[in-house]
Amino acid sequence: MSDKRDYYEVLGVEKSASSGDLKNAFRRLARKYHPDRSTEQDAEEKFKEIQEAYAVLSDEQKRTQYDRFGHNGPQGSPFGGFGGGGFNINLEDILGGDFFSSFFGGGGRRRRTSRGSDILLRHSIDMRDVYLGTEQEVIVDLPEPCDTCQGTGAKDGKLKTCATCSGQGQVRVRQQVGPFIQEAVQPCRDCGGKGKTADQPCADCDGIGRQMKSSTLRFNVPEGAENGTRMRMRGKGEPAPQGNGEPGDLFIELEIEQHEWFERSGSDLIMSLPLGYADLVLGTTVELEHLDGKALSIKVPPYSNSGETIEIRKRGLPRQRGGGRGDVVVLLKLHMPKKVAKSVRKSLDDVRSELAPGDTLTSIRDDAEERRRS
Ligand SMILES: [Zn+2]
Ligand SMILES: [Zn+2]
Repeated sequence: MSDKRDYYEVLGVEKSASSGDLKNAFRRLARKYHPDRSTEQDAEEKFKEIQEAYAVLSDEQKRTQYDRFGHNGPQGSPFGGFGGGGFNINLEDILGGDFFSSFFGGGGRRRRTSRGSDILLRHSIDMRDVYLGTEQEVIVDLPEPCDTCQGTGAKDGKLKTCATCSGQGQVRVRQQVGPFIQEAVQPCRDCGGKGKTADQPCADCDGIGRQMKSSTLRFNVPEGAENGTRMRMRGKGEPAPQGNGEPGDLFIELEIEQHEWFERSGSDLIMSLPLGYADLVLGTTVELEHLDGKALSIKVPPYSNSGETIEIRKRGLPRQRGGGRGDVVVLLKLHMPKKVAKSVRKSLDDVRSELAPGDTLTSIRDDAEERRRS
């Protein structure tokens, strides 16, 4: 099932909302959350959410389908995702030219601009990187505007207004549905909703307007980063369609590989340490190389019990809030050998009574008593 929020809820309107209500709600929210304007923390995500909700509800056919099937349309999702060019909403028309003119330097001149798609890149790191906040270097192929056509996709970089839609980017389509004639607005197929077409496509990029170029990205892993942390590199995403507008952003999502023995609990590192019976009785010190390359010394006191823990303060992961580090927590475990040599059996037999808890019934009673108290 989908965990998406209800589109009406996203826009804060009633199910019966008119197209005017929808437009007003969208305008209000889009102004608030537009990523180039908003100071809200999750503006980007919010903006996409309201954009999607509006794209579906403002399209009569899609709205009807949504009202009937919800997010789970009859053939998978009928609404598509964001991966492609996003939704075909003319923000300039809805928000008004002056909303954009101030940051596209239009000086009141209305221009049709759009933004390139965002790119998500998953990047694997290990616990050591989280511990130290290491610098990463990634070499990836990223789309950049084609040099030959400056990203327009047209030979010589010249685009002309699309004749099919007169540059509107969308066309009205009339369909006979049973006894009804339905009129719907659809993105123009000839120009892909962009309003402009190329007479002849650029030969170097086949009219796509982009080419893949190898790019070296450098960034630091935030100390103590959680699995799934996303970092944004502004303007490193897909170039705007036809070279007109802002490029999208590149998001790097961190995937933290499991450590061989450490398990993570917030900023604490938890591990279990199997020890022989003699080590638990006599006490011992175990040295391991820690994530920072320095020695991690685990001092096991004499008469330790299997199941007890030893805390080594401030050798865990960096705390994201409040600074400092978490702890390493070592869980002691009695290691039971599968087999022991004859000579060892003999020695154990000699000390058997010495190692035994004493009178059996007394020790059973004591143990039960202790369990009740704890
Ligand atoms: Zn080109
Ligand atoms: Zn067109």
